[in-house]
Amino acid sequence: MITRYDLSRVELADLLEGEPLYRVDQVWEGLHAQHREPADLTNVPKPLRAAIEELLPPALTLLKEVVADAETTIKQLWQLTDGRLIESVLMHYRDRSTVCVSSQAGCAMDCSFCATGQVGFDRHLTVGEIVEQVVRAVQRSEGRRVSNVVFMGMGEPLANLDHVWPAVERIHDDLGIGARKITISTVGVVPGIERLAKEKLPVGLAVSLHSANDRTRNRIAPINRTYPLRKLAEALHSYRRVKNRRLSFEWAMMAGVNDSENAARELAAFARPLNAHVNLIPLNPTPGYSTPGTDPKSILWFRDVLDSFGVNATIRSNRGTDIDAACGQLRAEQQLVVRGKSRPAKT
Ligand code: SAH
Repeated sequence: MITRYDLSRVELADLLEGEPLYRVDQVWEGLHAQHREPADLTNVPKPLRAAIEELLPPALTLLKEVVADAETTIKQLWQLTDGRLIESVLMHYRDRSTVCVSSQAGCAMDCSFCATGQVGFDRHLTVGEIVEQVVRAVQRSEGRRVSNVVFMGMGEPLANLDHVWPAVERIHDDLGIGARKITISTVGVVPGIERLAKEKLPVGLAVSLHSANDRTRNRIAPINRTYPLRKLAEALHSYRRVKNRRLSFEWAMMAGVNDSENAARELAAFARPLNAHVNLIPLNPTPGYSTPGTDPKSILWFRDVLDSFGVNATIRSNRGTDIDAACGQLRAEQQLVVRGKSRPAKT
């Protein structure tokens, strides 16, 4: 089924065959630059508004919304037209507003600590399903400008680059969000990184590293068995050569797994030659992973150790944890209800 933001401008013109080009432009601008619902396209005739409403239904139906952190975090659970569920999160900060979008329904990467990985893979999202998450966030942000987009919701964006990249271009070209304000986060899908290096738009790249030791990383992020650290480093070095953008690494802190001085040393050895910035993320507890997160004091200590090894690291504030709405948990809860079962715990 074709949804509202699936079509390119040319395809929209085809769909509205017989309408003059300026009308097509009005509809396109109305849906994208002005983020309007078809019914609110007041500059086009009513019958055309009705036709668009019918021809281009929305991809997303809001199932649940959770507001946290003094109304600065808005987490939305969406149902797709085939019943699949995805989440997006709008986060307002003092100096920016960021929407975190999903790129797949579920995820096949199977990272042991990740709520989405624990549920498994449903399917890739279409271009329209990705773009519409951003449009919805803009509509929901009530006067505050959505300045940043991060692909850190459900799914592995570089495993769905055929849809993610056209969505990035649309978010940039038609929704008007700067390429430098768009960040793609990957668990380390090397062919995707190589492809990204060839694209023009200078989007940011974040790599979910979590361990700079193959044995540990094989266990917590199984994609490492296919693309081990040495291959990942090679891809990142060539990415850095062609792109003039700073890399960042994400490191979710797990007690006894990746929070020792030795882990910091391995991370520093990996990050320093790439001049990468490290984001330390307090682990969100998930149903399928029993290892606790590193305690806040030890996270500070780990940051200081990294600093002494010459690596810049910041500790990311964890949005939505207080209401169990962090990281894939809205859907995880819903899924348990929908499927009536939980998955066995992993180690
Ligand atoms: N697949 C992509 C993007 C989605 S995950 C990737 O792996 O980067 C976005 C970020 O959230 C990743 O850094 C991921 O490792 C992190 N994450 C997943 N589960 C988490 C958890 N339980 N606690 C903290 N961070 C988590």
